[in-house]
Amino acid sequence: MDLDILQAFQREITCAICVHYLIDPVTIGCGHSFCRPCLSLSWEGDPNPAHCPECREPSQQRKFKTNIVLKNLVSIARKASLWQFLSSEEQMCGTHKEKNKMFCEVDRSLLCSLCSNSQEHGAHRHCPVEGAAADQRAKLEKQMRSLWDKIQENQRNLREEQIMINHWMEYVLLVRKMTRTEYAELHPVLYKEEEQHLEELERESWNILQQLKRSVAQINQKRKQLKEMHEELVGMCHKPDEELLQDLGALLMRSESVQLHMPWPVRPELSVRAITG
Ligand SMILES: [Zn+2]
Ligand SMILES: [Zn+2]
Ligand SMILES: [Zn+2]
Ligand SMILES: [Zn+2]
Repeated sequence: MDLDILQAFQREITCAICVHYLIDPVTIGCGHSFCRPCLSLSWEGDPNPAHCPECREPSQQRKFKTNIVLKNLVSIARKASLWQFLSSEEQMCGTHKEKNKMFCEVDRSLLCSLCSNSQEHGAHRHCPVEGAAADQRAKLEKQMRSLWDKIQENQRNLREEQIMINHWMEYVLLVRKMTRTEYAELHPVLYKEEEQHLEELERESWNILQQLKRSVAQINQKRKQLKEMHEELVGMCHKPDEELLQDLGALLMRSESVQLHMPWPVRPELSVRAITG
């Protein structure tokens, strides 16, 4: 391919946000395409309508299907560079001077077709390198999506909790006022009980406020962990095919474990205190 044409082709399958080959590409209303994770990040917290990061055209729609054509073009480009990598002198099989185009799932190594049929690898599962890389990428993309859903869920909880904190003290003041009014109307003489009642209310509401604050801190902490993990997965997804063949088990496991034990927002409630009589 002519170098200019090649570069033009590469430009078309490059995300304007991260300037890498598109991962899980989506095309928005104006026709521009971005990696799904890049667009999600860029629109996070944006009011409706969000705007195209490239041409600023407003977009009401927020959910998009993967653009299959673009996805396939990216995978062709990736295959081409993988092929180029495998064709270099130092990547060839030292023994047979052939391209190492098979991947051994047991040793996680690249082999030429003769080596892959040798006795040493006889019992192993082998597959073409590009297929192995595509599998790994698909696993990463799936993991990224589920992680992103968790980030959104956590964000909703955070918003709810912050609203709760903002209204909590107002609510307590209101309960206090109501209690006073009730005593004034029913039992103008029960000073001691009223005082005790209000003190308990004070103590309880303060404890709940502390719980709410702890909960916000926990949700914020989770948010940080989830975001860091997401960033790590995106980073891995941007790597060329040949680097994606490493064992991703530990990375995927970490991503799954960070999605466990999501902090639940506190649902505060004051105890009901009976007024004598
Ligand atoms: Zn991107
Ligand atoms: Zn646009
Ligand atoms: Zn060989
Ligand atoms: Zn093998």
